[in-house]
Amino acid sequence: MYDPNTLLALDRAHLWHPYSSVPATAPMFPVVGASGVRLQLADGRQLIDGMASWWSAIHGYNHPAIGTALKRQIDTLTHVMFGGLTHPAAVRLGELLVELTPPPLDQVFLADSGSVAVEVAMKMAIQYWQAAGRGHKRRFLALRGGYHGDTMGAMSVCDPVTGMHHLFSDSLAPQLFAPRPAIRYDQPWQAGAMDEWEALLATHADELAAVIVEPIVQGAGGMWFYHPRYLQELRQLCDRYQVLWIADEIATGFGRTGTLFACEHAAVVPDILCLGKALTGGSMSLAATLCSQALAEQVCAGEAGAFMHGPTFMGNPLACAAAIASIELLLEQRWPQQVAAIEQGLRRGLEPARHLPGVADVRCLGAIGVIEMDQPVDLARIQPALVERGVWVRPFGRLVYVMPAYLMGEEDLATLCAAMVEVVAEANH
Ligand SMILES: *Cc1c(COP(=O)(O)O)cnc(C)c1O
Repeated sequence: MYDPNTLLALDRAHLWHPYSSVPATAPMFPVVGASGVRLQLADGRQLIDGMASWWSAIHGYNHPAIGTALKRQIDTLTHVMFGGLTHPAAVRLGELLVELTPPPLDQVFLADSGSVAVEVAMKMAIQYWQAAGRGHKRRFLALRGGYHGDTMGAMSVCDPVTGMHHLFSDSLAPQLFAPRPAIRYDQPWQAGAMDEWEALLATHADELAAVIVEPIVQGAGGMWFYHPRYLQELRQLCDRYQVLWIADEIATGFGRTGTLFACEHAAVVPDILCLGKALTGGSMSLAATLCSQALAEQVCAGEAGAFMHGPTFMGNPLACAAAIASIELLLEQRWPQQVAAIEQGLRRGLEPARHLPGVADVRCLGAIGVIEMDQPVDLARIQPALVERGVWVRPFGRLVYVMPAYLMGEEDLATLCAAMVEVVAEANH
């Protein structure tokens, strides 16, 4: 295998990375292995991983149960087309997802990535209203500060200004945007909080197919935790104005916020639910869009007589096998205590950052911890400083944040938090 320097040189020569430039300028670290909450760098160093590979590796890396399931599936069936054919892994995964999510969600569309699951949800909503003879209902209402993915439809519902996609806004379907939910998760509710959302729904009900929101936690759009009552009120408004509600739980699903799904904080059920990220425990790319049988039947009652989407690798058996193993680990029910312990550890560990110069806010919910700065952080400086302290944290904009694997121990968590606080303290010297 190549030595670390050759790896880096070849990587720089040929590979794009997420949101990267050519020629590459950002620091880059080759990883040659990972286990539990540790990343193994090519130069021999080990890092405590705070990112769970963007919300996904909830059981840590190389979990033996997921590895075993993958190996067994490799020897049986790695892939087969899903058109006209089915297989045991997809069937079992569908059964588990329906069991895990609240009724009436019982129809599962499997897709390859979160962004595609969002596209699928949006297309379902459009076809739903077409079939009802109300094809003019084809726009979407989204929240400022939201993030729903990088494909064109998903981008159109990301925050239009601060989101990463404002550069493309002239090429995207023009959607409607409601203000970011201002009341924090743990603040008192205020009368009038829904006024602007309701005004938008009332005015535009005739052209709106659906409202799409990330429940409770707005992720990549700002790591913002908001009051559950917004979702209860939104559920009622959507029913009153006959607009579907899409909950994008791609980041929040599978225990991350302290409940299995974030919608449970508000005890509400969306019309369409998007899952992804942690679905396979971070091992394979897979996502799912769920809806009720009644909604699905309506979608298929229109001109096409079917839902018009079908990825080549839909229901990939390897990905399904990994998802089954990951969900079975969740069903062992250790995660509620683990996530609660991580929330406590994050609160304790990040609190010292609150009064540092340059720090705007510190907030934690479930297994998510955030230090928000006044100014965007200098990634070129802060990233190596974090790695030198033996942790993998990937700041974004003004946010230095972590969402570790649920099994992270107390000591590792304390080390992770201390490194974040130190680096943030240094950043303003
Ligand atoms: C990550 C994310 C997506 C997009 O998922 P990909 O798998 O990256 O396409 C969509 N919505 C939310 C809330 C996300 O966090």
